[in-house]
Amino acid sequence: MIVEIISVGTEILMGNIVNTNAQYLAKRLAHLGLDCHYQTVVGDNPERIKSALDVAYSRADAVIMTGGLGPTKDDLTKEMLMEYFGKRPVVDTQVLNFLEERSKARGFGKLSDGMKKQAIVPDESLILYNHHGTAPGCVMERDGKVCILLPGPPHEMQPMFEECCELYLNAKSDKVLVSMIIKCVSKFDAPIAIVGESPVADRLAELLDGTNPTVATYAKEDGCIVRVTAAAKTHDEALTILNPVVETCRERIGADYIQYIKEDTD
Ligand code: ATP
Ligand code: MG
Repeated sequence: MIVEIISVGTEILMGNIVNTNAQYLAKRLAHLGLDCHYQTVVGDNPERIKSALDVAYSRADAVIMTGGLGPTKDDLTKEMLMEYFGKRPVVDTQVLNFLEERSKARGFGKLSDGMKKQAIVPDESLILYNHHGTAPGCVMERDGKVCILLPGPPHEMQPMFEECCELYLNAKSDKVLVSMIIKCVSKFDAPIAIVGESPVADRLAELLDGTNPTVATYAKEDGCIVRVTAAAKTHDEALTILNPVVETCRERIGADYIQYIKEDTD
């Protein structure tokens, strides 16, 4: 399954906040072995959200969207998506009761229309209850297209993704991706200082053309990293593919220039 990430929020577009949701989701998708070729940021504007969806579904099967689920007027992602997926808006009594109890407990009395809006969910969809905030997420499916809609605040979005979506997505993936990171640094007393990415890349030569595992270099301020990534059915199988290539990389780079080699579990 090919997945795309769409981050909704004018705040992101304007540079007021950093899109850490996309970073987090991209990492999780990679671990799940799901391909994600594009990320999009779009403002809180229904027409532009719709056009971002049209583009995403022209090249992917599933979209993960974050933001715009809350109680305020600019939070219109859910309404837009229900229309897009032809879903009927229905009141989820579990969410409504929760919101009413919460409001009472906080001494706010009757729910505002904005708060009530959060209890409206698409029919015939999987509702993802929010244990760290108020707006529920959901998974909508139609004609083989999937949209996972998650709240914007990272402390709500991340647990919802881990508790509900990973299992769902895992079932759609037939592989896992495992990466090993080789951190290279210069040694001042070494004969040749190979701090930079390009001398390391020269030594790795044709290994950089591999497809499974892939080997890639990335420049860092204090040296560079080599990322070796394998796709396989299981974690153990991926390590079996990775280990000999990591060993060849280690020999070619030279142990003197390697600070550490570890699996990327981040
Ligand atoms: P709320 O109920 O808080 O309104 P929401 O689902 O409507 O949540 P937004 O209104 O889009 O989400 O964003 C709420 C806050 O969540 C933002 O002010 C920001 O702090 C955080 N947030 C939203 N999107 C992102 C993102 N892509 N990366 C990091 N933080 C984000
Ligand atoms: Mg909001």
